Amino acid sequence: MSELNLIFSALEFAADRHKCQTRKGICKMPYINHPIRVAKILTDFGETDPELIMAALLHDVIEDTTSNEQEIKELSEVILNKFGENVLLTVLEVSDNKNLPVEERKRLQVVHTPELSDRSKKLKIADKISNILDIKNDPPENWPLERKLAYLDWSKQVVNGARGLNKNLDQYFDKVYQETYDYLKRTKY
Ligand code: ZN
Repeated sequence: MSELNLIFSALEFAADRHKCQTRKGICKMPYINHPIRVAKILTDFGETDPELIMAALLHDVIEDTTSNEQEIKELSEVILNKFGENVLLTVLEVSDNKNLPVEERKRLQVVHTPELSDRSKKLKIADKISNILDIKNDPPENWPLERKLAYLDWSKQVVNGARGLNKNLDQYFDKVYQETYDYLKRTKY
């Protein structure tokens, strides 16, 4: 398969896995919009490694389309066979363990991000950029200002452990963070 064909296979696979899911925001946008944006952010900043782009498209399928260890094992096997070891390892690295409480998962992301592979670090930054853009442009219903600001703050802590591989990507995170922070403070919404 050509690289382009593999990338579209990853996109199709992710779209199928997420087909019944929507994002948290008030627009109820299709879930797949998020991984597409994450992959696009990476290519916008010059990332051309096909395994990184495939991992970006697939980055939430394990965390958000499985409900037990057996399903994770089976899905991992499929990703390994279709897209290879590097893609699977990256997707696994950026997937939270959903058996843990949310606050613990958040703490572990801050602690573990500095130890991740280069691919996973870049993916983490693009993921946080996409999520912060959603908080500004399509915010989750019932999230008060404090919760949005706390999300921004936590994202920055995670990203601080992932910096240094793509300067322009790092700077874009800072820009999106600052613009969203200022917007939330200004609108108090
Ligand atoms: Zn994500």
